[in-house]
Amino acid sequence: MLVLKFGGTSMGSAEAIKQVVEIVKEKAKESSVILVVSAMSGTTDLLLNCGTKAANDDESYKEILKQIETRHLDTVKSLIPVQQQSSVLSMVKKLCNEIEDICNGIYLLNESSLRTKDKLVSYGELLSSTMINAAFNSNGTSAVWKDARELIRTNSNYSNAIVDFAITNQQIKDFVSSTSQKIIVLPGFIASDADNITTTLGRGGSDYTAAILAAAVDASALEIWTDVSGMMTADPRWVPNAKIIPSISYQEAMELSHFGAKVIYPPTIQPVLSKNIPVWVKNTFAAKDHGTVIENKSDSTNIITGISSINSLALLSLEGSGMIGIPGFSSRLFAALANAQINVILITQGSSEHSICVGVDVASAARAKEVVDKTFEYEIATDKVDPLQIEEKLSIVALVGDQMRHHTGISGRMFSALGRNGINIRAIAQGSTERNISAVVATDDVRKAVNVLHEEFFETIQKQVNLFIVGTGNVGKRLLAQLKQQQGFLEQHLRLHVNIVGLSNSRKMLINENGIDLNKWDELLQNGEVSNLDQFVQSIIKRNLRNSVFVDVTANAVIADVYASLLEKSIAVVACNKVAASSKLNNYKKLKHLSTEFNAPFLFETNVGAGLPIIGSLNDLMRSGDRVHRMEAVLSGTLNFVFNHYDGTRPFADVVKQAQDEGYTEPDPRLDLSGTDVMRKILILAREAGVQMEMEEITCNGFLPESCVKGSVADFYEAMKKEEAHFKAIFDKAHAENCKLKFVASFNDGKASVGLQHIPPQHDLYHLYGKDNVVLFYTDRYKEQPMVVKGAGAGAEVTASGVFADILRAAQK
Ligand code: ADP
Ligand code: ASP
Ligand code: MG
Repeated sequence: MLVLKFGGTSMGSAEAIKQVVEIVKEKAKESSVILVVSAMSGTTDLLLNCGTKAANDDESYKEILKQIETRHLDTVKSLIPVQQQSSVLSMVKKLCNEIEDICNGIYLLNESSLRTKDKLVSYGELLSSTMINAAFNSNGTSAVWKDARELIRTNSNYSNAIVDFAITNQQIKDFVSSTSQKIIVLPGFIASDADNITTTLGRGGSDYTAAILAAAVDASALEIWTDVSGMMTADPRWVPNAKIIPSISYQEAMELSHFGAKVIYPPTIQPVLSKNIPVWVKNTFAAKDHGTVIENKSDSTNIITGISSINSLALLSLEGSGMIGIPGFSSRLFAALANAQINVILITQGSSEHSICVGVDVASAARAKEVVDKTFEYEIATDKVDPLQIEEKLSIVALVGDQMRHHTGISGRMFSALGRNGINIRAIAQGSTERNISAVVATDDVRKAVNVLHEEFFETIQKQVNLFIVGTGNVGKRLLAQLKQQQGFLEQHLRLHVNIVGLSNSRKMLINENGIDLNKWDELLQNGEVSNLDQFVQSIIKRNLRNSVFVDVTANAVIADVYASLLEKSIAVVACNKVAASSKLNNYKKLKHLSTEFNAPFLFETNVGAGLPIIGSLNDLMRSGDRVHRMEAVLSGTLNFVFNHYDGTRPFADVVKQAQDEGYTEPDPRLDLSGTDVMRKILILAREAGVQMEMEEITCNGFLPESCVKGSVADFYEAMKKEEAHFKAIFDKAHAENCKLKFVASFNDGKASVGLQHIPPQHDLYHLYGKDNVVLFYTDRYKEQPMVVKGAGAGAEVTASGVFADILRAAQK
């Protein structure tokens, strides 16, 4: 004998029911079949909703009833040949009329007890099982319908009734032996008490109905047919990379379902486990897929079999100095909760015995406080115990696996993966079987936690980094092109999937959690929403995706202002924007501190020398204990370009324009020409070398005449033209000494300055061409001969590649 159970989606339409009929007919060729079905998907919720509305005097329940009736009648019309429809239609109509009578009763009385609700929801399964039974018989396959309420006896704990197995097993056996039918159809979920009043077995309870039947008849197997191809390593609605678990032990399946894997209703395993009946989880819509087999053993080679989570948890803490060393506190606590029928989901106790912490469903929290405070009334009055504390909006995330007990360090890996992603753990619990490690986290973090852990334990093959990029100018465009070009390489060689989730420029913004298509990002962005930085940032924070990196490829101070709010949510920041790192010392220090505290990289290598490894090399020196005494540097690609190209034959303004057109300058070229940009860079280097410096402390020996500093960028070009003689004189003077002009940044013993210098041919800085940058580091270890970093220090392509490298560093933290 086989017991098959089909869930709500499998019964969700005439098409789906036809599939079910085919599957069952195939099975019935080899064995007798007991078929248990759920209500059509969504029906139980709709019925409950009708009841609530009716009880609240809201007449709109009638519209919902109409919807339910139409859906069922339409299904019959598509499912059953016209000639045989009328009797089925009238059965369905009759059941729907009964539902209406019940709802009208609730509406009149303005009251709906759990008992009434059970009666009301029972119609979902009554309807679906009636329909599929008719489908068999109309199709020439004989089947018999049996009311599960005549077989399954429970107590009167409506909505979550407890089965009386002695009576139930006997009734099932008697019935099954009395019928010679090969296919028996039963409604799942419903049962009855000693007075024949309808009860239900808890939401999702049709699985349990099937398991009770399977155990009672010693079935050869129980098959749970649903809409996924088996039990998966995590909830597939949250973790797109979740994988099917081909084989799993009863204990693991129980732990996973108890901790939230909705695919099986938790009590389902118990009856079949004691009879050693294998349970299959199969997909109605892909019947050929292997599915999952749940049995005595697990073939899993993974240490972790699956990850699940429970929402709506409240943590109750009983604390007090009077508890230490005195036995009996915990038994009184648990007795109080048990007497109030409050189910304890998780327990932890600190070794100091100063507190006990239990997790319960949030719906029971207020009641728990009432009964526990009452139980410890005396101790609370005498200050030995504090009143029960309740913390809500919590969830549990649990790792499950039989193999865990043979391996050390799993909890360490779990907690550090969560920690790296800024997920705070409120409490932890590990069962003594070591089959389950549970962590309590904020509900806002639970989806992220499940993904982080899935990545940690199942996706060594691939890690996903989620990027939010602001700025689609020269550098931004090049960065997107490089990301597009390298996506395949990164997946293959670094096992890194770079997912561009958000993109924004000053006009438009776009967010797509599944990744923005880099082949047409510009078109997609143009059709995006009007950009709003605050909304963009809030949506990054709210999404709370793992490995999130915010990438600032602008030069905009407003954008730099949002870094702190991101870092403190453990979101990494990569910036080619120099504003933050060169802002007030306090702000720079705050950002650095947030980066350390929240384990979120704050990387800005491209702030100095574009893609050249300048800041990274300096950081390496400092981390390994070196000390920087002096730095000599040419750090402005723009000024280098300008002074390498200007020889008095072409106007100075034209050469500056060329530098701007070729993309070397800041959007406002005066920032380069005035020396401000170089000041920012030497300031950043000094700070990274451990010096507490402000911008105002840097001496700037500028060369721009006053007249060039005022007005707009256009005014600036005009003014430069008028001052051509001034620039020519500067050039001629250097030329006469056989020197080149270099705009040099110096740092010496804690002091920094920038300015134009005449550089003779034998000088280290002389041979510097085009837009090259160079930095000479003189340190404890590099005393006479400096460490030199030199190369192209400006340009969109190299800057973008420096930003890219920072992104990879942030991703691999
Ligand atoms: P049915 O109506 O067939 O009983 P359910 O909706 O109760 O189906 O359960 C199946 C759903 O459970 C799947 O569609 C899936 O989204 C969800 N689910 C949650 N966790 C898991 C998991 N670990 N493995 C498989 N499915 C899961
Ligand atoms: N129809 C019931 C519910 O939705 C039982 C089930 O589907 O298993 O909870
Ligand atoms: Mg279910």
